[in-house]
Amino acid sequence: MIAFEYVEPESLEEVLALLEQHGEDAKVLAGGTGLINLMKQRLVQPAYLIGLRQLARSPELAEIRPNGGLTIGALCSHRTIETSALIQHRLPLLATTFRHVASVRIRTAATLGGSLAHADPNQDPPPALLVLDARIRIQSRHGAREIELGDFFVDYYETALEPEELITTVVIPPQPADTGTAFLKFLPQTHDDYATIAVAALVSLDGDTIAQARIALGAAAATPLRARAVETALQGQAPTPQVIHAAAALVAEEVDPLADFRGSVEYKRDMAVVFTQRAIEQAVTHARGASGNV
Ligand SMILES: Cc1cc2nc3c(=O)[nH]c(=O)nc-3n(C[C@H](O)[C@H](O)[C@H](O)COP(=O)(O)OP(=O)(O)OC[C@H]3O[C@@H](n4cnc5c(N)ncnc54)[C@H](O)[C@@H]3O)c2cc1C
Repeated sequence: MIAFEYVEPESLEEVLALLEQHGEDAKVLAGGTGLINLMKQRLVQPAYLIGLRQLARSPELAEIRPNGGLTIGALCSHRTIETSALIQHRLPLLATTFRHVASVRIRTAATLGGSLAHADPNQDPPPALLVLDARIRIQSRHGAREIELGDFFVDYYETALEPEELITTVVIPPQPADTGTAFLKFLPQTHDDYATIAVAALVSLDGDTIAQARIALGAAAATPLRARAVETALQGQAPTPQVIHAAAALVAEEVDPLADFRGSVEYKRDMAVVFTQRAIEQAVTHARGASGNV
């Protein structure tokens, strides 16, 4: 690791001022589970490291609040989200998804903002947040902006975040009535590995017709992605096994997986179809069984 200066500001204003002052030479450090590895491999070499630890009690950055939907502070750890009674009650999809991340030790350190800014396409939270239509609030010294999560991921480990910007909160809007969700992580190797393929599905029913379907995948391309062709094929249809099977098959054309030690491109493409079908089936079952349970 190369030499760097470490600072730990006590306020958000100070963090934003330092980010503006040092620009591309600076990086914020949240849980450190992603950044420190990249620094050890010399893939990222910031001259200034801005620790966010002192902001861990800031209401905006560290709290989960109901507001019609929910807002979740960027410094909330994965473990906090997994175990939050509010999340378990209002958005069980997120509790389930965060429970699938690595080990308790990693989940206790890693934060929501860190997992989004890190932008490793194999991570679990992005597909679940994509099907919830999450938006990200970003702040710099010059003000705040909000963007759709779908516009945030630009490429492999690349986001729309500018060097002087900080993610402050993630906003989850209210979800449609009679909605069911599912998150499936295909883990053929060890329990604490990254996904070979991950699929999140949200299905809302109007009687026995699919009023809305949102499907997103992780570990399936250079960025997390929404499977729009699958969604369109489901919309307005009765969720029969034939309809779900035909719609899920379309995901093969939407994914663009990278070959690695978890599998070849062809294998991951096949698994994307299998797990998309299963995730849709589970989401439909949940939509039928528990009205409004997302
Ligand atoms: C062994 C191991 C296994 C893992 N397995 C999984 C897994 O299976 N699934 C999964 O989803 N994740 C997994 N993770 C975690 C994941 O890969 C990232 O390490 C983690 O999400 C990063 O969060 P962090 O808070 O530690 O971020 P940090 O490491 O502190 O930061 C990561 C990046 O985000 C930036 N950043 C942090 N916070 C903010 C903010 N608020 N605003 C702007 N930029 C910010 C930093 O500058 C840095 O560029 C694993 C990690 C490890 C070490």
